[in-house]
Amino acid sequence: MKKNIFGLYREEIEAIITPIGLERYRAAQISEWMYQRGVYCFQDMTNLPLPKRMLLAQNFTIDTAHLKLEQHSSDKKTSKLLLAFDDGAAIETVLMRQPYGNSVCVSSQVGCNMGCIFCASTLHGAARNLSAGEILAQVLYINQMLKPDDMTVNNIVIMGSGEPLNNYDHVVKFIRLCHQEYCLNLSYRSITLSTCGIVPAIDRLAAEGLPITLSISLHATDDSTRTKLMPVNRQYSVSEVIAAGDRYSKTTGRRVTYEYTLIAGINDGPVHAKQLADLLRGHLCNVNLIPVNNVPERGLHRPPLSTVAQFEQTLLHNKINVTVRKEMGSDIQAACGQLRNESLKKPYINR
Ligand code: SAH
Repeated sequence: MKKNIFGLYREEIEAIITPIGLERYRAAQISEWMYQRGVYCFQDMTNLPLPKRMLLAQNFTIDTAHLKLEQHSSDKKTSKLLLAFDDGAAIETVLMRQPYGNSVCVSSQVGCNMGCIFCASTLHGAARNLSAGEILAQVLYINQMLKPDDMTVNNIVIMGSGEPLNNYDHVVKFIRLCHQEYCLNLSYRSITLSTCGIVPAIDRLAAEGLPITLSISLHATDDSTRTKLMPVNRQYSVSEVIAAGDRYSKTTGRRVTYEYTLIAGINDGPVHAKQLADLLRGHLCNVNLIPVNNVPERGLHRPPLSTVAQFEQTLLHNKINVTVRKEMGSDIQAACGQLRNESLKKPYINR
């Protein structure tokens, strides 16, 4: 079987092309075509001599993502794509055109098996991990989409379907690739990874020395509520997760973001806000409040705006940095795993 070359570091490309008779410097040309120009066919790599292009095509493939479905919000700011790989696995990628740049939300696994009760990604479990190349392919697809407007991806959030820290090696390779000059040349600071709180992997990530932003999904201040919402809390409790967040900020010097999904009647009261403030006071962190995307089948609903505002005010009074996540793309099912679930119900619309 031919080896896929997409998603390899330049040094790895060098190591596999030299045995078939290509010069090392050809790896720089190949990576520029793939990662910067969006050319995924060896024949089109016109600064390589034709016999070398043929040699490459005989030995290697360039596996990227294919579009299955796309939806655009009515204000055109959010685009949600269902992308598929050669084995038919499909994942969601979201582009958010923000005032401060273009953000892409990438998936790290096909589905998810963490079982959070409010999350649509988890309904069918995790089919498999995505490779570094498959995560990168999502960003490059969006880069090609933005090209006619002379724009590129400015921020990456690893917050789509999947638990990135359960796919550790591929995700870290993806992050490192994004930073390489021959790839996206993005600063680590423009990359955010969101985790449900896999404590040993948070410590491992801190030791990598990558100054990315870490977001931790907290969603509750006491273990009994958090366990109901997020079964992973049985393994890593609220206090253990926050201690890991502290170690991360201490090692990296970076502020940790705690994501807190507000669910009416479950974790959105003034008492919860006060508990959250008490838990986080004095820690190097921000809170990001996310009014839940309704999951009617499970009786989970977003609180009224006034409740969200009150929760935010309580945190502010207690000197906790807080932002409320701006909702984008709710008219196109841009919330976590919804589009993929729809597509599992009906046959793909092939384009
Ligand atoms: N597994 C990782 C990343 C994917 S989820 C994690 O748990 O952080 C990204 C974020 O979206 C998490 O904070 C998650 O809890 C949140 N989320 C999932 N479903 C949601 C919903 N229905 N409404 C609001 N936030 C949701």
